[in-house]
Amino acid sequence: MSGPNYTQRRSRLIRAFKALELDGLLVTGESNIRYLTGFTGDSSWLFISSGATVLISDSRYTTQIANECSGLDVDIRDARKLIDDAAADVIRKAKTKHVGFEASHLSVAQHAALVTKVKTADLVATGGLTERLREVKDKWELEQIRAAVYMAERGIGVVRSSLQPDQTEREIRYILEAAMRSFGAAGTGFEPIVGVGPTAALPHAHAGDRRVSESSILLVDWGAATSSGYRSDITRTFITGKFTKQMRTVYETVLKAQQKAIAAIKPGAKCKAVDAIARKIIANAGFEKYFGHGLGHGFGLQIHESVRMSPLSEQELEPGMVVTVEPGIYLPGKFGVRIEDDILVTNDGHEVLTSVPREFDDAIVEFLA
Ligand code: ZN
Ligand code: ZN
Repeated sequence: MSGPNYTQRRSRLIRAFKALELDGLLVTGESNIRYLTGFTGDSSWLFISSGATVLISDSRYTTQIANECSGLDVDIRDARKLIDDAAADVIRKAKTKHVGFEASHLSVAQHAALVTKVKTADLVATGGLTERLREVKDKWELEQIRAAVYMAERGIGVVRSSLQPDQTEREIRYILEAAMRSFGAAGTGFEPIVGVGPTAALPHAHAGDRRVSESSILLVDWGAATSSGYRSDITRTFITGKFTKQMRTVYETVLKAQQKAIAAIKPGAKCKAVDAIARKIIANAGFEKYFGHGLGHGFGLQIHESVRMSPLSEQELEPGMVVTVEPGIYLPGKFGVRIEDDILVTNDGHEVLTSVPREFDDAIVEFLA
């Protein structure tokens, strides 16, 4: 497949206007603009209606837009014009009356300015219109995500084979990032989490100065980003020394919760029901209060996207959605275990996109002498 069909994506977005009685939408979320046009710059807005699609940008991006979005109408403002003045002009010219804006991607100040400048249309708050389209990945997007998984998995292979007891969390993060880039990644999917022992008990810890030898638990949560902007998101917890019975119990509980939840992933499954499967296994083992976050999340151009795999999500899974499944148990001051894989919802079930081994025995690391 050659590349994304941006025209088709925009047509699908316009089809969603009707239910909200919109005749235009001002898209201000950067990833949404990228999804709808291919434009990778910032400080730009996109106006979409059935009659006009205009990328509102400035002269720094003239050439880039011509390269990335050929055929798209652009409104290039000069340094004397503010972006909200340019947007007001575009909205007026399009003769639209009910124009949606992305409530999650417009500041209160920007909104106030727009309200005073857009005299010809009502501004209507919308939420998640483009995000909803992005939940289901097309064939090209799945190729990008598979590539991001491959880069991440090759990267952790390098880390594992070169792991030493005296390495710090920060050194490991550096080796991991460099390795992923050497396998073609444009960067990391997010700041990798590398946590030894008590640091691993913090679900979103930053890599610090702890050395591998300070505990028998090493948690790594990492992913790669492709040059097309797509990401992967994986967690493995490694056993790097003598382990206690409790460590093994926690690990096996997390793994069981994860595997049972993954097994339930198929079209029509409710996100909260999948979450509940993992949560119940962890609760039955007595660790309920040590698993505080949701089970997983969609990802793609961003590391956290709709859908949410949480107790609050009434959404049902659909073919083409890609989600993480990442239960964890975190014992404050001691250690934490999380196991995270990337799952594609298929027409008749699911496919696990990630293949780094995850059984307890696989997690035991032998250091090279
Ligand atoms: Zn993760
Ligand atoms: Zn995640």
